[in-house]
Amino acid sequence: MDNSHFEIKTKHKNARTGILKTKSGDIKTPAFMPVATLGDIKTIPVWDLKKLGVQLFIANTYHLHIRPGEKLIKSLGGLHSFMGWEGPIATDSGGFQVYSLSTIRKVQSDGILFSSHIDGAPLHFTPKKVIDIQISLGSDIMMPLDECAGYPIGKGYADEVVLRTNRWAEEAIDYYRGLDYNALLFGIIQGSTYKDLRIKAALEITNLNFDGYAIGGLVVGESKEQTWEVIDATITYLPEEKVRYVMGIGKVDDIIRGALNGIDLFDCVIPTRNARTGGLYTWEGKININNARYKDDKRSISESCKCPTCKFYSRAYLRHLFNVNEILAKYLATVHNISFYAELMREIRKNIKKKTIEKWYKKMITKYEGGFDD
Ligand SMILES: [Zn+2]
Repeated sequence: MDNSHFEIKTKHKNARTGILKTKSGDIKTPAFMPVATLGDIKTIPVWDLKKLGVQLFIANTYHLHIRPGEKLIKSLGGLHSFMGWEGPIATDSGGFQVYSLSTIRKVQSDGILFSSHIDGAPLHFTPKKVIDIQISLGSDIMMPLDECAGYPIGKGYADEVVLRTNRWAEEAIDYYRGLDYNALLFGIIQGSTYKDLRIKAALEITNLNFDGYAIGGLVVGESKEQTWEVIDATITYLPEEKVRYVMGIGKVDDIIRGALNGIDLFDCVIPTRNARTGGLYTWEGKININNARYKDDKRSISESCKCPTCKFYSRAYLRHLFNVNEILAKYLATVHNISFYAELMREIRKNIKKKTIEKWYKKMITKYEGGFDD
């Protein structure tokens, strides 16, 4: 595999902007991927995604395998056609479900045995099968099977996780190289919060020459300090010329910090999940629209936001919709947060190009520490 799919455009210290080329189009990096677990970004149709500046999203291999199944999706032209989305789609490997569905799975040496969370049917995920599923879906950015362990885990177990994940990675890439398919395949680095294991994993995984590298198994209960210790320790072992992705990072301050440290891709459920309960992002900080203080607030969510929600509606109206539990509330709030995150990534890219990213980060973190204003 060559490196021509990723081109670094500008650099400032460790931060970089670039273009990631996929078979379904180019992605300006750093980029954020909203999460489309079941084949949709909850409440938002694809025509809005495009208008709001979303470049790509990440769908879930485990869930789509169970319902409706990759065979059906393939027979309908693949996930792009099925969802009505022409742009790039990333898919995960099911490895995260080792963590999120820990009660219904068994990690074995050759893969993961799940019992379906829907009907209990046995599902055997092996490195090859996970590649096959993602190819049937028509994925543009694929992840090999890995084991995302929880926190805390003992060092002995963490070492086993690294051994297994790396063995599966090798099996996945060997298999994939023999196939005629044009997606990008990333390697995933595990190792819990043990820096020496992370470094060992990074050295072994990068040796397999994947198209990009992901730092996985983070934000599973460890402290923010530990998360960043792992990222800082691992990133220096990732080749500069390959695209880098930290899985599950999505808080505003963490995304900017990641970009500052040379991370190119992010994904997280928080902008969409928070939107559905009234947690909204503004350039002045986070607000909880359910708060009584907004009941007669005529202003839009964020005065500088150009999204349709901010163009048409006041905070007072949105608060009312949440208060009476109208479906429209979730849609309008998601439109705004998705738009905010797309704008956030544009600002990050702009500040890297202008070499002002550090100064801008310092200004932004004071507004984004802590929770929403409730
Ligand atoms: Zn808005």
